Amino acid sequence: MVRGQVPAGIVDYFCIWVLLVDDADRADADVERLTQEALRNRKRSSMPMCGCCYGCGEPITGRLFHDADCRDEYERRQSSRGRNGRA
Ligand SMILES: [Zn+2]
Repeated sequence: MVRGQVPAGIVDYFCIWVLLVDDADRADADVERLTQEALRNRKRSSMPMCGCCYGCGEPITGRLFHDADCRDEYERRQSSRGRNGRA
């Protein structure tokens, strides 16, 4: 260690502190995003596979939707039902 430098231990401690603070900020955003994502996924994965695409109603095996378009279509329908509905 070169004489006159800040002791390595202090630098390490400071770096760790900065990293922790930085992580904490990031973590907040991540948790928020991941929670939303997990909720969406849980809702979706709780849907039984009915043999038909939830989006367009065409037969499908092993999946809920053919593709992103069908999924969007389904989610649009769900959210409009939620807005108008109470049913
Ligand atoms: Zn479809």
